[in-house]
Amino acid sequence: MSGEIREYSMYIDGAFVEAVSGERAKSIGPADQETLATFPRGGKEDVDLAVAAARKAFEDSDWGHVRNSVERGRLLREIGKRLRDDLDRLAEIEALDTGKTITETSLIDVHQAADTFEYFADLATQLNGEVLAVPADALDLALREPLGVCGAIAAWNFPLMFASWKIAPALAAGNTTVFKPAELTSMSALELAKICDAVGLPAGVVNVVTGPGSAVGQALAEHPDVAKLSFTGSTEVGRRILQAAGGNLKKTTLELGGKSPNIVFPDADLSRAVSGALTAIFFNAGECCIAGSRLLLHADIYDAFVEQLVERARKIKVGHPLDWDSRMGPLVTPAHREQVLSYVRWAKENGLKLLCGGEAPKDPALARGNYLEPTIFAADSNAVKLAQEEIFGPVLTVLKFTEEEEAVRLANDTIYGLAGAVWTQDIKRAFRVAKRIKAGQVWINQYMLVSPFAPHGGFKQSGYGKDLSKYSLEEYTQVKNVYVDLSEDEFLSLYE
Ligand code: NAD
Repeated sequence: MSGEIREYSMYIDGAFVEAVSGERAKSIGPADQETLATFPRGGKEDVDLAVAAARKAFEDSDWGHVRNSVERGRLLREIGKRLRDDLDRLAEIEALDTGKTITETSLIDVHQAADTFEYFADLATQLNGEVLAVPADALDLALREPLGVCGAIAAWNFPLMFASWKIAPALAAGNTTVFKPAELTSMSALELAKICDAVGLPAGVVNVVTGPGSAVGQALAEHPDVAKLSFTGSTEVGRRILQAAGGNLKKTTLELGGKSPNIVFPDADLSRAVSGALTAIFFNAGECCIAGSRLLLHADIYDAFVEQLVERARKIKVGHPLDWDSRMGPLVTPAHREQVLSYVRWAKENGLKLLCGGEAPKDPALARGNYLEPTIFAADSNAVKLAQEEIFGPVLTVLKFTEEEEAVRLANDTIYGLAGAVWTQDIKRAFRVAKRIKAGQVWINQYMLVSPFAPHGGFKQSGYGKDLSKYSLEEYTQVKNVYVDLSEDEFLSLYE
């Protein structure tokens, strides 16, 4: 992209347009604070236009009709293909905009977005209803129908993936959408809009409205013509979304924050578990809702594990997102790094033991970016702020346990319930503990694996509802019961 400032438009009703206000916003690169792109700063008026277009596309065409499902699948598959065809360019845009490394965006983000479109393309024709068994001479059906206009609001940390997670199932099920990306990282969703346009999606089926959450997000959450809202973001904003969505009783999916436990028993394959623990917290610089930010180590392996963990954490190359050797890029904004550093300061002042990191890297080449060293603290208690609050950065808290029961108690001692992991060779223990962790996604001898096939979504204050998998597809439908009376008998009536 070398110095070029891209100019994006929003995508409403099949056209690339400016905000009604004419205002524009900037995308600033986290690696050097340079302007990468400008895009429209939308508001309520733009949401109204987008929702009207999506409603028209849903109501005045056969887009959502079951006979159109093969065509919907074909279009989704074509979007997936074009994402793959443009992988290198999209991976670069995503890396520069978010601060993720090019290795991550090339190997994971763009592929996963394409996989997601292709996965839901296959499901578009598989949304079958059910024939119900009824004790009568009748045919009783449960039909799955699309909802109408589905709104979606996303966080900044996996922009292209979230756009695909929200848009692909909505379209597969026959809905139309209005998608609002995070204002910090809007570029890849606007690139996706160009692909949607190029493959020939009917006007109004996909709309992308950019702008601040307080204006665009709030208007979308409140809009009476939006039937469903899928939100990925903080628990705090999730609460506001829920209130706003209450006006017309929108169906809501809330994918919120986390403070996920990563439990290692003494019989685990230590080297693999260390790799898993590093991935759990330092992948995407810890800016992951499912980050394994609490590492629970059994006392018998604590010292050996921590030694390997710290040694390998110190070797993680923090560097420019476009450097193929970088393993951790900058955080998304200077303000966010400052917020993460405030936790580091708190931990130092409150007696937690700093095992590594805790500062910006010394390399002068990184001075203009929002970089932070991989940071690990040892804590004696799970009750401390560092172990309770979501930091959303590369800061790990390590805790010790001795009994399985204690590990489960510590794991569940959080308001969140998004994810977690168990490392052990004992299959019975693995499954027993996995079942007792109160979280929506638990890995055994693995961490961070998210695929279109598996449901992703939390328990407790991590939200509810699912992204990805057939479970999310079902959330983009409503079930209608149709009863067909086939009896020859007289109508059984209580009235003369
Ligand atoms: P955020 O809640 O600040 O913003 C998320 C989105 O909501 C953005 O698009 C923002 O513009 C919009 N928004 C803000 N105020 C709004 C309002 N009043 N009404 C409507 N929309 C509004 O979150 P963030 O800082 O972008 O992302 C980080 C958070 O997201 C973390 O808590 C993280 O755990 C969470 N997250 C969760 C998941 C998951 O799948 N569970 C995935 C990624 C991130």
